[in-house]
Amino acid sequence: MGDQVRPERIAQLVREEESFLICGHVRPDPDCVGSQLALSHALRKMGRGAEVWLADRVPDNCLFLAGSSSVHQGDAPLREHRVAFVLDTPKPERLGRIAERVLRIPVIVNIDHHPSNTLWGRYNWVDPKASATSEFIQLLIHEMGIEIDREIATCLYAGILTDTGRFCYSNTSPSAHTMAAELLRYGANPEEVSRHIYGSSRIQKIRLLARVLQGLRVDDDGALAWVRITREMYGECGASTEDADGFVNYARDINGVRVAVLLEEMPGREHTRVSMRSQDSRIDVNEIAARYGGGGHHAAAGAVIPGRLEHVEEKLLGEIREAVRRAQHGDRISRGK
Ligand code: 5GP
Ligand code: MN
Repeated sequence: MGDQVRPERIAQLVREEESFLICGHVRPDPDCVGSQLALSHALRKMGRGAEVWLADRVPDNCLFLAGSSSVHQGDAPLREHRVAFVLDTPKPERLGRIAERVLRIPVIVNIDHHPSNTLWGRYNWVDPKASATSEFIQLLIHEMGIEIDREIATCLYAGILTDTGRFCYSNTSPSAHTMAAELLRYGANPEEVSRHIYGSSRIQKIRLLARVLQGLRVDDDGALAWVRITREMYGECGASTEDADGFVNYARDINGVRVAVLLEEMPGREHTRVSMRSQDSRIDVNEIAARYGGGGHHAAAGAVIPGRLEHVEEKLLGEIREAVRRAQHGDRISRGK
């Protein structure tokens, strides 16, 4: 564990070093990939070497970002580096199978906005008030004295757009809008970015969505809604886990729902991946995920839980119903009933 530092210190490190490894989390999203690629472009503009490394493949909705095809996915970095940036990654385990190799790198710079971040780097720049990790990278690039070009702006805009849920979530701060506005001035095209991210679904994804929504369940009181994805559903639709990204939002967006859950059977069926969303400020799904070794944010969190889907479903939904009851009970007490 190291210190929290200011961007000036990180910019100084960039000036001192020749090359950098840039890593991110498993199941990378546009904020992760966008901030990694933006930083790599800025470093190269400064004449530095930059290698972007991820455990999992870049999702289809990020393939339009400049540099996405050169993201490395091997078992080890292509070159030796003394410094690794790790972006959007609250704990080293979230690096997935590359974690062990990353932890061997002497200097780790941890830049993130997850409240669950354990400040696990030598240098840490962590602020849960930031809407996206891309916000930090935008500030850092300014600090490095590099001009943001259209490609960099597009990468960063994709991160802010998606992590704020298209500027809808509670993290849509004035700074999220100000920074996004700046990116538009540097050439990011919102129509193009949105089309690539939200308007380019594979037909397999839509078939899977139809199949999954058939099984949508809601508790009698309407507070908890959930969907399940089995291995058979993937097989029938020719879809993969990446296609299910965002499905939990359909359960979340039902009127009256306080908590939404997606349960996904993992290959082998011995583990279940859960994705949770809270629509109630009194219910912290990050805390519930943390009980299972997972994490995320107050209103959006996930975990991979040992156990078959039916078993995890029963236990987890029980705990969530309890959290909903406690929140509603607290409400009645505060209203004097
Ligand atoms: P999603 O539900 O969209 O996969 O993820 C929502 C949030 O929860 C993201 O911030 C993500 O980083 C976090 N998250 C999802 N799955 C896991 C997990 O298995 N472990 C941890 N620590 N965080 C997770
Ligand atoms: Mn993020």
